[in-house]
Amino acid sequence: MTKVLLAEDDPAISDPLARALRREGYDVDVCTDGESALAQALLQPDLLVLDLGLPRMDGLEVCRRLRAEGSSVPVLVLTARADEVDTVVGLDAGADDYVTKPFRLAELLARARALLRRGVVDAPATEALVRIDPEGRRVFLRGQEVQLTGKEFELLKALVTNEGKVVSREKLMRDVWDSAWYGSTKTLDMHISVLRRKLGDDASQPSYITTIRGVGFRFDAPEE
Ligand code: CA
Repeated sequence: MTKVLLAEDDPAISDPLARALRREGYDVDVCTDGESALAQALLQPDLLVLDLGLPRMDGLEVCRRLRAEGSSVPVLVLTARADEVDTVVGLDAGADDYVTKPFRLAELLARARALLRRGVVDAPATEALVRIDPEGRRVFLRGQEVQLTGKEFELLKALVTNEGKVVSREKLMRDVWDSAWYGSTKTLDMHISVLRRKLGDDASQPSYITTIRGVGFRFDAPEE
């Protein structure tokens, strides 16, 4: 069931909105302050509907921290102030969309549906799905930063730089772990599986990292 977390402290807004979302068939949880919104949003709902004016931690901060934790949950912001919108949506706080109060229920539901669809289906074709920033040592998946350890980053970089080509286990061990490889590749396999998990990849039907048995791994940029 699709899980929607609604963070709104004003019951005059959250009550009818929660009802409407439930009528759409979503499983709705409501929270009324920023700290619990952040805690619950980290449990991976399918969508977060986030009021900006929340007690204990404002919505902007909730959104920033959520992204800093590596969460890519779609965030639909509710704001009473149109002038805040630029800060909220876009790279700064990492929200995905917004509606300004007072909003029409139908419009909010349409935007919620659009964000939920996007979470399931591929990102828009114009956006690079996986992007590496070598200088900042940062990785972005569909525009959202993915938190990687040093070795995971090196490994992904080694694969992405050779996009479309098989990179041998020996080369990866040498480049990433600085060690000659004579047998065990448990560490390498463990790191590959963590990378896949962080990229949302599935080992049995990988869209990014394919295992070439007995040889190594290949990174493919997914079709656009
Ligand atoms: Ca409020």
